[in-house]
Amino acid sequence: MKIYKFGGSSVKNSKRVKKLYNLLKEVGHKKTLIVISAIGNTTNKLEKVVNKYFLKKNTEIKISEIEGNHLKMINDLFPYNHKINIYIKKIFNGIKYFLKKNKYRKYNFIYDQVVGSGELISTKLISEYLNFIGMKNIWLDCRNYIKTDNSYCEAHVNWTKTNKKIKQLKKNYLYITQGFIGADYNYFTTTLGREGSDYTASIFSYCLKAESQTTWKDVSGILNADPRFFLKNNLLNSLSYDEALELSYYGASVIHTKTLHPLKKKQIPLYVRSFIYPKKKGTLVSKKINKEIIKPCFIVKTNQKLISFYMKNFSFFIETNIRDIFTIISKYKIKVFLIQSSSISLSICVEDKFNNLNILINKLKSDFIIKLLNNVYLYTILHYNVNNFHLNFNFFLKKIKIILRQINSDTAQWIIK
Ligand code: ASP
Repeated sequence: MKIYKFGGSSVKNSKRVKKLYNLLKEVGHKKTLIVISAIGNTTNKLEKVVNKYFLKKNTEIKISEIEGNHLKMINDLFPYNHKINIYIKKIFNGIKYFLKKNKYRKYNFIYDQVVGSGELISTKLISEYLNFIGMKNIWLDCRNYIKTDNSYCEAHVNWTKTNKKIKQLKKNYLYITQGFIGADYNYFTTTLGREGSDYTASIFSYCLKAESQTTWKDVSGILNADPRFFLKNNLLNSLSYDEALELSYYGASVIHTKTLHPLKKKQIPLYVRSFIYPKKKGTLVSKKINKEIIKPCFIVKTNQKLISFYMKNFSFFIETNIRDIFTIISKYKIKVFLIQSSSISLSICVEDKFNNLNILINKLKSDFIIKLLNNVYLYTILHYNVNNFHLNFNFFLKKIKIILRQINSDTAQWIIK
């Protein structure tokens, strides 16, 4: 079987959904399982609904706005009064009802019940549309297959149960299913973390021993520099799993880190290809050792925080100090992307997805002097050499203030304000 994954921007409007149909006709869709994200920026909008709910603000207007966007697409794609309207209305009414009746105040739980709906809506809409125009497919509720624990917002997959469920799928159909969501043992919706749909695709690939997985993207494949930041960029034709892992670790947004492990384990090739130009080859990630000359890769992570710890009594930083800091960092799921230590200080660049940094500071401020710098960029060059440093750095030169740098034989990183 083949696994395809389409992100939210590939299905952001009715024109794109029609394009998806044409793409499938062009590249083939037999024995294929398709994982689809929520339409456009629906996930962000649903997150706003949850935030409003916790601020005790009116959520109905926002929900109706999201519903309106989907109904407009339905209007463009289906005849008047098609049964899809009933299904979509049911989901939106379900969100409203849940928020009215729910008594449980845990943010992450509510987040998953509400935000996870985006994928259910998009996949139902697209599956119905493809069936309507003659591309017969089966819609799967992936909560029946992706089984997780109840770590809402970043659930862990129960591989044994998931594998058992997915293996029951017959292989000779075209399936459409959701990315990003699963279900816990009480059948409550869980989510796998933002941008988690690629990971979902890999889970299906792994359990079905897929012949390949393809992520269809707005860009032509994996580029050596993020086009949102750099004018100069080149397509990477092929990468090994480890190189791709390194890129994603440093923040290349085109691949989700967790995606690669299941594929690497079963040596399933991953193609990253252009949704707009499906005939182009794109990038192949496989076990193959990369024979190309290794290009420097330029990666930017935005919205990072630089936190520096200093000893209060001017004594030296010792191992136990580092241990204490990292125990709290790991407890509060704060992700670290760069560490620099000196005899009297420790600086770390972190991403605070779950807004726990204030808790960390409160817990440690009696032991250390702590300085926090918000909103910094982490700029990384993989396969760095002094000649390629300036190549793409010009972008930042105007507003750049280098706060910290770390350079080793192959990788260079800067924290920039
Ligand atoms: N819709 C989710 C998100 O925007 C999951 C995904 O697209 O991968 O993060």
